[in-house]
Amino acid sequence: MITLHVLLIFFAGIISKEIPDATRRPEMSNIELWELANKNRDLLRFSTLFTAQNVRDLLSSDEGLNKAIDWCKQTAVTHVYVESFRDGYTAKKSALEKVKKAFLDAGIDVSGCVTTTQVGKKSTGWNSISCFTDVPTQEHLQKIFEYTASMFDEIMIDDFLFTDCECDECSKARGDKSWSEYRNNLMVKMSRERILAPARKVNPNVKIIIKYPQWYDNFHNRGYEVVRETQDYDKIWVGTETRDPDNKQWGQKAQYEAYYIMRWLGDIGGEKTGGGWYDPYGTNPLTYAEQARQTVLADAKESLLFCYGSLLTDTGPANVEKLRTEIPRLFKLAEIVRGKQIKGILAPKPPNSEAYKEQYIFDYVGMLGLPLVPTPEIEPAESVFLSVHAFEDQDIIPKLFQIVIENKPLLVTDGFSDMLKGQVDISGHNVQILKVNGDPRSIMNMDRESLYKLRKRMLKPFGIEFDAPSKVSLYLIGDDHVVIENFNNEYVETQLCITRLADANSVLKLPVDADINVKVEDEAINVFMSPRSMVVLQVSNKDEYIPEPLSRGEF
Ligand SMILES: [Zn+2]
Repeated sequence: MITLHVLLIFFAGIISKEIPDATRRPEMSNIELWELANKNRDLLRFSTLFTAQNVRDLLSSDEGLNKAIDWCKQTAVTHVYVESFRDGYTAKKSALEKVKKAFLDAGIDVSGCVTTTQVGKKSTGWNSISCFTDVPTQEHLQKIFEYTASMFDEIMIDDFLFTDCECDECSKARGDKSWSEYRNNLMVKMSRERILAPARKVNPNVKIIIKYPQWYDNFHNRGYEVVRETQDYDKIWVGTETRDPDNKQWGQKAQYEAYYIMRWLGDIGGEKTGGGWYDPYGTNPLTYAEQARQTVLADAKESLLFCYGSLLTDTGPANVEKLRTEIPRLFKLAEIVRGKQIKGILAPKPPNSEAYKEQYIFDYVGMLGLPLVPTPEIEPAESVFLSVHAFEDQDIIPKLFQIVIENKPLLVTDGFSDMLKGQVDISGHNVQILKVNGDPRSIMNMDRESLYKLRKRMLKPFGIEFDAPSKVSLYLIGDDHVVIENFNNEYVETQLCITRLADANSVLKLPVDADINVKVEDEAINVFMSPRSMVVLQVSNKDEYIPEPLSRGEF
């Protein structure tokens, strides 16, 4: 049985090596894809957004409207957001109503959207941002939401609902508070008094979604307050636009960020969590598709492709073409991850926590093949990673003391260790210090041997050892699924060892032409993977012993 199994995998490996071919036919026709999208509406949806300018420039003729509807159907898009305001421009009511009707008639759900850029008085900081201390600006904001709520029962707010203004009026209003505290209070008040209450007065059925940007380590500095705003709004949305990690113009984000933030905000938002949102800027088809995989892997219920206009130009069409080939398998991926408890190393970022010199450290730690459990709370866990962010928690010292006493594997950053000096002695055989040296991105240069040793100690409670170079991520999904993802531009050979492993099967591969070979020998799973590919393994245990999910109790 085992021999046959290994042989089959061996042959599959040989065959798949002959297949890679860019001209291969898609897995299904346009009609089949549209049917699949409709069948899966409750599981995972793809959506897009028409900016106010797109409404004016691309949807004003019947021809333009029909073209957009066809594009949606070919892209499995069953939900669209039609925007009423952006960059100081307001789309006409007649135009918005016409677009809404056309999409509804085509069997596509329609929501509204507002982007709060170029509203009233300019901020002294970012160009398109407003000074929300200014009362006429607040009144302008209110009018935009009253207008939009008169047409739509659901309104998305794009991620410009913040301020970085330091004008005299703001400075005076701030008094002796920090900028962070002043702005958080201001934006919470703005949301309650100028957005939610007036919109609900115009339309008692309206649901309003706050979309958080992808820059989670700076939310609190500019007035995004994930605790109170998530409580106040009807739904939340998550920016998963990591773009191309090697493109210097677009922020050099690690791909794991999309996964971390989607899971982190998913934990904060619970049932209120909608989907993720990514765009084509600075991407190519490979990095564009990685954003989609990360978003779905993190259990998003929707994938918003921003935005229709941008997806028709530059790298957009090639990106969409690639995504279309992956959509059927992304539905399968959503089915595998939906609602499952993830396992691994607790990686807490308390809300409003300061990152100091460890900006987005979680994203880079995830790129090292350490399976993380993103969370806003420092809570009991089998294995823990702590960074400087943890000091936002008032009880960090007693919690840390508990982790050390219980001898749980603990990884701390050098920055955390420095801030801790003289408070708790953490020197012990189960504590490892991660040398960040104030440059989080640099940890991705760790060599394979060091990474193996680091993972071995951190993953001991899960009976797992993982050998792979940097930029190969590992995810433990529920009791019997493991995902390995290669973000390198080269082939990689990896080995995953699981105590009492009985068998492992590849159940999903991405992209569709991925060259991935899985061989099981005793307790080792050897996986050979082509560049920028992902594999989902279903694993079974000899004892049918199912490890307990990560403990989520209280201290
Ligand atoms: Zn101001």
